[in-house]
Amino acid sequence: MSSVCAAYLVTHERAARNDEPDVSLRSKDSTTAIARAPGSASAPPPAVPAAQAPTFTVREAPVERTFAAAAQSLGIDAGTTAILSRAFRDELDLSRDLKAGDRVSAVFDTSSDNGTGAAREPLAVRIVRGSSAHDVFLHKNPQGQPHYYSKDGVSTGPAFERYPLDFTRVSSAFSLRRFDPVVHRWQSHDGVDLAAPAGTPVRATARGVIRFIGRQSGYGNVVVIQNPAPFSTTFAHLSHFAKGLRAGSRVVRDQVIGYVGKTGWTTGPHLHFEVHVDDVPQDPLKVDLPQKKSLAADELRQFELRVAQLTALL
Ligand SMILES: [Zn+2]
Repeated sequence: MSSVCAAYLVTHERAARNDEPDVSLRSKDSTTAIARAPGSASAPPPAVPAAQAPTFTVREAPVERTFAAAAQSLGIDAGTTAILSRAFRDELDLSRDLKAGDRVSAVFDTSSDNGTGAAREPLAVRIVRGSSAHDVFLHKNPQGQPHYYSKDGVSTGPAFERYPLDFTRVSSAFSLRRFDPVVHRWQSHDGVDLAAPAGTPVRATARGVIRFIGRQSGYGNVVVIQNPAPFSTTFAHLSHFAKGLRAGSRVVRDQVIGYVGKTGWTTGPHLHFEVHVDDVPQDPLKVDLPQKKSLAADELRQFELRVAQLTALL
């Protein structure tokens, strides 16, 4: 069908600002009809019935308070706003990174809503933050569930590395109950011990904020990171910490946070590593972690064509 051409209508709208009640939403609209005939720039617009041509509407809003408020002013519903917040969360901490003056723009397919504004699920969303732009693009899986991807077809959202360091072996596994060789008591082992030479760099497995950094008796030098909910991670027995880190510091995935040591109750150098889900310890080697996924080759081709079309509108 659209392999020959695609004619579409683009409407630019600017969301009304609450503090500018006199500015009509419609008065700022501009409507542009664009016809494309691939391979022949001078060809006349093909005769595609208007009913079949997708109509794209671009809306843009300033960030005044939160991303959610800006998204809402663009007409995005709460559920989709939550999905979008999650999509941007690997790159941005929306609660802290956005400032007044940043902008959010979105492209909607308004072909079938007859101007009622029924389309609530944007095909593409861009956050312009200072001089940098962050884009995500809608792709629905075969079950029709919406997911947002980066322009190269990689899933968005927080992603975790499984292992925080290059280790030589698992010296003690996660267990609900085991005999502790140091305190000579049966107790649970809330994490996994990864043996590695003293001084081996230890890296954050996902973006986060340091909740605790310092010394605790059993753990020795320990870092606790609050990752995107519901995850948090703990790194214990460190010889020392990476410079400049303190409680409240933000870290990115793969950032070095400290170095393997044997502080606290331990028989030799290793990293004691915990992953908590909703504050409950889980086996770090097995817990289900959000990871990056790429679209399959056949889906990717179509996706990339659409990304090129939508990026031109943002
Ligand atoms: Zn341990």
